[in-house]
Amino acid sequence: MAEVRRSGATIVLVPTMGSLHEGHLSLFEIAGKVRSDRNLFVVGSIFVNPLQFGPGGDYDIYPRNLRRDVELLSGRSCDAVFAPSVKEMYGAGGETQVVVNRLSEPLCGAHRPGHFEGVLTVVAKLFLIVQPDIAVFGQKDAQQALIIKRMIDDLGFPVELLLGPTVRSSDGLAESSRNTFLSPEQRSIALGLYRALQAVRDSLIEGERSVVALEDVGRRVLVDSGLDRIDYFEIRKLPELVHPEEARGHLLVATSAFVGRTRLIDNLVLQVDGESVIEAALF
Ligand code: AMP
Repeated sequence: MAEVRRSGATIVLVPTMGSLHEGHLSLFEIAGKVRSDRNLFVVGSIFVNPLQFGPGGDYDIYPRNLRRDVELLSGRSCDAVFAPSVKEMYGAGGETQVVVNRLSEPLCGAHRPGHFEGVLTVVAKLFLIVQPDIAVFGQKDAQQALIIKRMIDDLGFPVELLLGPTVRSSDGLAESSRNTFLSPEQRSIALGLYRALQAVRDSLIEGERSVVALEDVGRRVLVDSGLDRIDYFEIRKLPELVHPEEARGHLLVATSAFVGRTRLIDNLVLQVDGESVIEAALF
């Protein structure tokens, strides 16, 4: 990387846990277009990070397929793959962690203790190893993106963060490495996540502004779809993720629920001004 840096190339990092799908590939596409000239060096990292999985999580069974991933990336805008072992990343250490307070507390943070500390620690390490000028993340993990942005700002990492929109399959299900765990029947249940988000958007368009009522609409669609183990369905104000009473302004509608033993997440980012309800970017 030192050599690449000396060449004056713009270094772009796309961090992933591998088992790549269209969502990941869209981030590489974004990475390959950040500069119109060719002096660009895109690094994809593939690392299933044990620090971000809690006890009883799916670390051991998380899908891994490095050979296929490298094949998928070889025809695309990716100049190097960094796929370290756990030992290479953490050695005998692992005592230092990065914490972002407050933003890590609600939503996924409330249900996955230590998760965001694990994410931040590995992302900080990847930034120090690769030293990218730009890092690309997906809006699918909206809370994660907000927290990483906060870490970048607070610690002064000289990294620009770019976000890619959530890529969905044609039935609306957000692409996820964990979708491979779903049976066809479970997959049709999982469609309830996006349906619930859309139902909330429709209620907003019809004029509903009560957050309690809107969250109720979403949760009901989840349950009716067969998603009966819900971690959360919440509307939060951006960028601080406070829980408002009225649904106005820049909003994150986020949900997580289990289908069988598979935990899935999804979200919509909306801008609500007066009567107008439009999909928006996270930042
Ligand atoms: P993961 O491998 O799940 O840790 O994800 C690596 C990166 O890909 C993260 O920045 C995710 O937000 C992003 N990502 C995952 N799924 C999608 C998707 N369906 N659309 C866009 N980005 C995604």
